[in-house]
Amino acid sequence: MSDLETMIREWDGLGTVVRFDPLTGTWIFIALHDDTLGRPMGGTRMRAYPTPAEGLRDAQRLAEGMTHKWAGAGIELGGGKAVLAVPRPLEGGEREGLLRRYGRLVDALQGTFSTGQDLGTTSEDMAVIARETRFVHGRTEGGVIDPGPYTARGVLAAIRAVVRHLFGSDDLAGRTVLLQGTGDVGSPLARGLAAAGARVLLSDVDQERVGGLAEELGAETVPPPAVYETRCDVFAPCAIGGVLNRETIPRLACRAVCGSANNQLDRPEDAELLHERGILYAPDYIANSGGAIAFALMGRKAPAEEIDRRLAGIGDVLERDFAEAAREGLSPLRIARRRVERMLGKEEAA
Ligand code: NAD
Repeated sequence: MSDLETMIREWDGLGTVVRFDPLTGTWIFIALHDDTLGRPMGGTRMRAYPTPAEGLRDAQRLAEGMTHKWAGAGIELGGGKAVLAVPRPLEGGEREGLLRRYGRLVDALQGTFSTGQDLGTTSEDMAVIARETRFVHGRTEGGVIDPGPYTARGVLAAIRAVVRHLFGSDDLAGRTVLLQGTGDVGSPLARGLAAAGARVLLSDVDQERVGGLAEELGAETVPPPAVYETRCDVFAPCAIGGVLNRETIPRLACRAVCGSANNQLDRPEDAELLHERGILYAPDYIANSGGAIAFALMGRKAPAEEIDRRLAGIGDVLERDFAEAAREGLSPLRIARRRVERMLGKEEAA
């Protein structure tokens, strides 16, 4: 059996839609992982992979991640993800042609899968796909929307839950929050924290960006190599993945970690290292789900109040997980996993 055949047969998801696009030499994989809570939804990633099998693996792994993300945040959607494994970066008419053919494929699934922007695709790409199907999110009648501010609102709700758990009140006045990364999510998050009275510390490898924001907010800056040792109540990774690892965790001088970056833990076991150090960790896929939630709701034409309520709900979900984790002496990540497995009617993971 070929690699692809084995991976498709042995995956524990619902199934994988595969199409080869001969005009561009692109492999299209739409991995549908679970629909217990709702129809699968997940982003469309476009990347050149060394082999088609690696593109398929990414689609399947990310689809499973989406199942956990939706269920973890209490949203009635299933896990899915699409990968366009291109042979080389595609531009112009070639890119548009591929996206339109992909849009027709998504449309043929009649809502079994809906999608949005992900790494390697832009909101303009979503607008092209939307010419072929209505099952695409991330754009409004008037143009495209940036998920960053919605993600930031979700992280802010998550930080409030962290502070409430640690200090008995979610008042951010006087609490110190250190942000690593001041981009699309970090900047609006810093503004929200500052408006709520928090003491905000900012760090970014882009000196110009961090300097401008620090001046705007009257915030202090921290040089990137010093973030891990800097004393704070909440460390908010909003830049890159893998920042919580065997080397950095012993150096952390924070009470909690809660930020937007994807895959903050180098390995799942690192959640246990944080737990042993008494550092509260808000699972990244829950804390950073605000943008995805907002897009999913906008796709359903949900009113702004419902979006507000669901973003605030991220904090409620985490607060319950933190309380259960404290009662059972387990890490919040294990509690969140177990909760999701229960919701999906699968065996307990913890
Ligand atoms: P972005 O590219 O706009 O900003 C990232 C910032 O981090 C940049 O300013 C960059 O200079 C800085 N940075 C990079 N490496 C750094 C380092 N080692 N130390 C300090 N700063 C560093 O990205 P974004 O959209 O703000 O996303 C930030 C993180 O959140 C990413 O991991 C992303 O995957 C994740 N995320 C984003 C969204 C969203 O809505 N944009 C949603 C979910 C998750």
